[in-house]
Amino acid sequence: MRCERCNGLMVGEEICDLQGTNGDLCVDSFRCLLCGNVVDTMILENRQRSIDAGGSAMWTSPRMPRLVAV
Ligand SMILES: [Zn+2]
Repeated sequence: MRCERCNGLMVGEEICDLQGTNGDLCVDSFRCLLCGNVVDTMILENRQRSIDAGGSAMWTSPRMPRLVAV
C-alpha cells in the first residue's frame, strides 16, 4: 500500500481507542514510514460508503451502478 500524500511505503499497524470513548475499539490501520500519515480501515470504509451513498453520482449509472462504480 502506498501513501496517498507522499506515495511512501505504508506499514500495517493497529490503533486502539481512537475516540477515547471505547477502550475495546481497535482498528487495523496503515502508517506511512516517510510522512507519518495514518489511514485506518474504518476511514477507508466510511469513505467507500459515502461514495456508494451518492458521492460518485457522476460515475454511476442507474442501470449498472456496480459495473460503472468499479
Ligand atoms: Zn506519506
